[in-house]
Amino acid sequence: MTALHLSPRPAAPVQVDLPRGIVSVHVLGFGNATAWCSCGWTGRRRLLKAVAMQDAWAHSARDRCEVSTPLLLTW
Ligand SMILES: [Zn+2]
Repeated sequence: MTALHLSPRPAAPVQVDLPRGIVSVHVLGFGNATAWCSCGWTGRRRLLKAVAMQDAWAHSARDRCEVSTPLLLTW
């Protein structure tokens, strides 16, 4: 009869996926909205706020940055 030796697995390193930055949309006036992120990314200047918001969400999904609440910031 053989003894069963079970060696414990080495613990896998825990990887925490933290957000890299916080993205928001800066509304600088009529027809002037830009998505901006604290990670250093900046979107194009947009005529429509909705398009700048789309840029912000796309950047959030692509680069794992957090979306600010509220998303629109009027300056
Ligand atoms: Zn970012």
